[in-house]
Amino acid sequence: MHDQAQFNSKNLKKTNYKNLSCPNCKSKEIIKWGKRKTENRGRVQRYRCKSCYETFILDPFYRMRDNPQKITCALDLFYRGLSTREIQEHFKAFFPHNADHSTILRWIRKFSLKIAEFTDKLKVKTGSYVEVDELEFQRRKSYKKKAGTDKNWFIDVIDVKTRFMVSSGYVKHRSKDEIKKILLKVKEKTDNVKIVTTDGLTAYENVVKKTFGYSNKEGKYKIEHRVVTASKGEGFNIWIERLHNTIRQRTKGFRGFHGSLESAFALMKGLEIYYNFIKKHEALKGKTPSDVAISGLQLKSNNRWLELIKLSTQSI
Ligand SMILES: [Zn+2]
Repeated sequence: MHDQAQFNSKNLKKTNYKNLSCPNCKSKEIIKWGKRKTENRGRVQRYRCKSCYETFILDPFYRMRDNPQKITCALDLFYRGLSTREIQEHFKAFFPHNADHSTILRWIRKFSLKIAEFTDKLKVKTGSYVEVDELEFQRRKSYKKKAGTDKNWFIDVIDVKTRFMVSSGYVKHRSKDEIKKILLKVKEKTDNVKIVTTDGLTAYENVVKKTFGYSNKEGKYKIEHRVVTASKGEGFNIWIERLHNTIRQRTKGFRGFHGSLESAFALMKGLEIYYNFIKKHEALKGKTPSDVAISGLQLKSNNRWLELIKLSTQSI
């Protein structure tokens, strides 16, 4: 039942319970402490903290009434284009107890963020050239119509060679700080980015170069910042434009965009994961961008959502 997800990576240490820390006191002194029976998933490993004697289980689905198949099915259907209400209807026909659409939305947010804890740390083998672009979003502040809307932005950084979305963020203003945070992740995850292309937004000025730093040895900044100006007929890669059109289409039905900034952030994080790890691309000969850009990560099962959730739980 509880099969260990296979994970061979040069970038990450082999998963080992000795790398775990206690959820109660953060101590690293952890020992195995028998197995525990669960209703849906057979026996799962239990651990014990030698400092505070707390026992705990690293099962992301622990105490959830619905099983992992159903939950990951919801994520998959959602990012392939169904609304949470459509998923609710679908489940009604196939599962004994129905899940409400608000529960489904909660699963999607929870597990998108959970997987991101793991995927955000993976090293990515990119080409030397990435493009940064922004999409504008109108987020309704709540379900009530009177609450008004907020103009927000989705910013993504895409490696042109592998099509991997190296970093993204759903942000309020496109401020220098917000942009820096997104670019810092690119710096952490990649080694050979040499050129960063952005549009003419002034917030990018200096921030791009400063984030990647200055090389005293070479006497210049480590990154070349290129700016494209649409009015001059310049543009981004055509497939990036196409990707953004797809994102626009897909996010029209995101009900989580009626609510907090955090909720929208989590849904867009899931979209990043779907795009990088789940969706197969014709241009990549039926592979996902992660298959191409993260050679150490070999996802083996057909249910990649579940495999990623398991990996994210084991890599704490
Ligand atoms: Zn402890």
